Amino acid sequence: MDIKALSENILAGDRRALARAITLVESGRADHRAAATELLALLARSGREALRIGLSGTPGVGKSTFIESFGLMLTGQGLRVAVLAVDPSSARSGGSILGDKTRMEHLARDPNAFIRPSPSQTHLGGVARRTREAVALCEAAGYDVVLIETVGVGQSETVVAEMSDLFLLLLAPAGGDELQGVKRGIMEMADLILVNKADGDLKATATRTCADYAGALRLLRKRVQDPPGFPKAMTVSAVEQTGLESAWAEMRALADWRREHGHWANRRAEQAQSWFVQEVRQALLARLETPQARALMTSFGAQVAEGALGPVAAAQQVLDALPER
Ligand code: GDP
Repeated sequence: MDIKALSENILAGDRRALARAITLVESGRADHRAAATELLALLARSGREALRIGLSGTPGVGKSTFIESFGLMLTGQGLRVAVLAVDPSSARSGGSILGDKTRMEHLARDPNAFIRPSPSQTHLGGVARRTREAVALCEAAGYDVVLIETVGVGQSETVVAEMSDLFLLLLAPAGGDELQGVKRGIMEMADLILVNKADGDLKATATRTCADYAGALRLLRKRVQDPPGFPKAMTVSAVEQTGLESAWAEMRALADWRREHGHWANRRAEQAQSWFVQEVRQALLARLETPQARALMTSFGAQVAEGALGPVAAAQQVLDALPER
């Protein structure tokens, strides 16, 4: 594979080259990993930076409808938009919550948009790693906005928040008691809560729900990376396409403020550092996944069970015998 040519095509904004590169970073093959590492290093020099927006919400809240409307609004303004998904459920159940091909039909046909479903991997860690690399590829390809979508499954929100500049939480209009249903930890990650479906019969409920969340957000501990008034709750309607312009204005205002006050660069630096740490951890764990390592684990495990070896001694022997890769 000609990695140099691939990198040039990505830099030139060729969507097929980008798709091919994402397939490459999703591959577990050792030669593909080496090629992916080389590609990412080449592209890192582009210095291009997108606004990375994380978006979470339970199934049915309107994530695809919102991304379609919001994405089309952005491309309508001449911006290029990439959409990536982190969906750990697709690996476990074989069925993806986010991967449905009929989602975002109009956006998918827009030449200024790029949509990629979640990679199927066995662990969230694997999905996170591939998505981080896909984000870097989209940035090099010149996308202005990268939307990273996830459902509230396990730790996926934390993973997405950690690779985003801004984190949005999409919620449905609901009775006051449902406010308790949103985990505090998730509220604490949100920069903007968007109460969707503020239209028709649901409009009044959406407005009330929004006020409830605004109140709840005010009770949270103030974060240094927030200007006055943030985090914020707003209503939107993805179907009627209302509130999207205001939401976008708030996102830009927050991003600009963070850039001016140094929080943007700090956050990116921390994210790069944590990416590095996770990369090392993942690589070490991968060394346990080879057939030879599995055989060692099985045979030493049996000896421990029989009492022939102590757990600590057996662990040390496995570590000593583990192949490099
Ligand atoms: P997702 O599972 O979070 O991706 O949600 P979808 O985008 O598939 O939407 C779930 C349902 O909510 C669909 O029937 C949508 O038509 C509906 N929906 C999404 N956005 C809105 C909205 O702004 N207003 C109303 N009334 N319905 C919406």
